Amino acid sequence: LRRVAVRLGARSYTIRVAPGLLAAAGKELDTLRLGRRLFVVSDTNVHPLYGPTLERSLRAASFRVDRLVLPPGEGQKSLTTLRRILDALVDSGADRSTTIVALGGGVVGDLAGFAAATWHRGVPYVQVPTTLLAQVDSSVGGKTGINLPAGKNLVGAFHQPTAVLADPSTLATLPPREYRAGLGEVIKYGMIRDERFFASLERDADPIIRRDPDRLASIVTRCCRMKAEYVVRDELDRSGRRAHLNYGHTFGHAVETATRYRRYRHGEAVALGMVAASRVSADLGRLSETDRKRLLALLDRFGLPTSGVPSDPDQLLRLFARDKKTDEGRLRIVLTKGIGSASVSRSVPRRLLLRALREICAVPRRKSPTGGSR
Ligand code: ADP
Ligand code: ZN
Repeated sequence: LRRVAVRLGARSYTIRVAPGLLAAAGKELDTLRLGRRLFVVSDTNVHPLYGPTLERSLRAASFRVDRLVLPPGEGQKSLTTLRRILDALVDSGADRSTTIVALGGGVVGDLAGFAAATWHRGVPYVQVPTTLLAQVDSSVGGKTGINLPAGKNLVGAFHQPTAVLADPSTLATLPPREYRAGLGEVIKYGMIRDERFFASLERDADPIIRRDPDRLASIVTRCCRMKAEYVVRDELDRSGRRAHLNYGHTFGHAVETATRYRRYRHGEAVALGMVAASRVSADLGRLSETDRKRLLALLDRFGLPTSGVPSDPDQLLRLFARDKKTDEGRLRIVLTKGIGSASVSRSVPRRLLLRALREICAVPRRKSPTGGSR
């Protein structure tokens, strides 16, 4: 079992990572000061696969377990579904001593976390993330919430979990595209913080693609440790000290908006965003062409997109300027000074932004039968 401590005073918690952890969940939760009543929230893809193992383990540790299983998908991050969860809590007789357990990806985590933040003005919750994205990113840091028709995550709360139990063997059943998208965020951590970690992704690409649970356990732990370092410095994401985590995200959000969140999974948009950001870094002389090619090669190896966005660079630039990560009207962009070191730039010339966007909109180059590029 690997542990990552997230030190936030009274709101401190431990992330636990181990293959097979699901079956030991009851024993782990028994070591925390929680009431005996648990309420599991999951979705119809995840619950049949992992609900029985988790709930058996919880009951064996003499917890009482109720549950609500929702349809899958981002569409559930709505007021309607929040209401469904709250009504189900009422129906089950839940009270202030109930702990909510989120079993699923980021969608379930955000919803169940927000329900926990508001039920009786806040009850404990435990994250049991089952997507790579949730294990390395969204389950850590306490951001919870739902979408409104007007925009994503417009309503929410910071509510730190009491524990995170990440079992990398659950990733075996993740649809390939969801798995690859999660790898986009994993590569991001290497780019902003840790060149050795980046090199280990290059070296171990095969076991990673095979989803080797032990290899994944070490990757998830490393990423959680990096995320936790940012979170403890800026719990409420106010001071800008979490900004490096947005590497690839400003460009990525423009791509997601331009394609109406339909064409790309979040991690894929981040991959494209990193390609654009690395173009800017290279043009400013901060990133060598060799290192930029390493990024592109690794994204490619993991099956992530690096070009071909069906939009035009001028439109992307307009969306880009509207992104909330502006600082008194000036655009803040996270760049890298080589692999493993991020920095924020406030004054990237428009010309360079356009050039970077042009690059990700370009039609991808296909390899000819002889192996060369057309
Ligand atoms: P994210 O974590 O990327 O925000 P979601 O919560 O929407 O994404 O999960 C992505 C999809 O994968 C959903 O359809 C969800 O039901 C499904 N899913 C999540 N975890 C697993 C798993 N371990 N095995 C199979 N499918 C899963
Ligand atoms: Zn992200």
